[in-house]
Amino acid sequence: MPRSFDGFINVKQRPVVAVSACLLGQKVRYDGQDKYTSLIAVELNKYCQLIPVCPEVEIGLGVPREKIQLTQVGSTIKVLTLNEAKVDVSAALISFAKQFVLKKSFSGLVLQDKSPSCGVNNTKLYSETGQEIGLSSGLFSATVMSLIPNIVIVQESQLQNKNEIKSFLDQLDRLKMLD
Ligand code: SF4
Repeated sequence: MPRSFDGFINVKQRPVVAVSACLLGQKVRYDGQDKYTSLIAVELNKYCQLIPVCPEVEIGLGVPREKIQLTQVGSTIKVLTLNEAKVDVSAALISFAKQFVLKKSFSGLVLQDKSPSCGVNNTKLYSETGQEIGLSSGLFSATVMSLIPNIVIVQESQLQNKNEIKSFLDQLDRLKMLD
């Protein structure tokens, strides 16, 4: 029977959803700020069990930290720091994403837009000389999507009202039926 959006949901049945930690109010961004979004932290939290994740903190980058960006290097997209050192954190992000998929059980993700770690198809991609050359996905989200192709994944910009939350919950339900 389809679930009523406003109906009671047994806590044990709530789908597990991984969420960019900054959207839940954790001050983990490069500038020490958060991107708290009540529609996710409060509203979505009524229907899902939310697990916060900040890939950049998980790989040991501090808060605050040097900004990083997606950079096209030959045929590979890397994540490099913006400073002169151009530290390559790509392998660490990919490795963390693989461990996250192995160790955590979740049926969906809600991730922050335009991030070199969390973005989905809307993160700016730069050439090695710093020119903007297109859009791509962050390395955490790209790795998760490659490992779990049917995962339900949305960006914060796609959850702007209760109807979009309902649509996200419906997608999770459909995925459950395919299991
Ligand atoms: S890596 Fe993701 S969770 Fe962490 S601050 Fe950036 S967008 Fe937020």
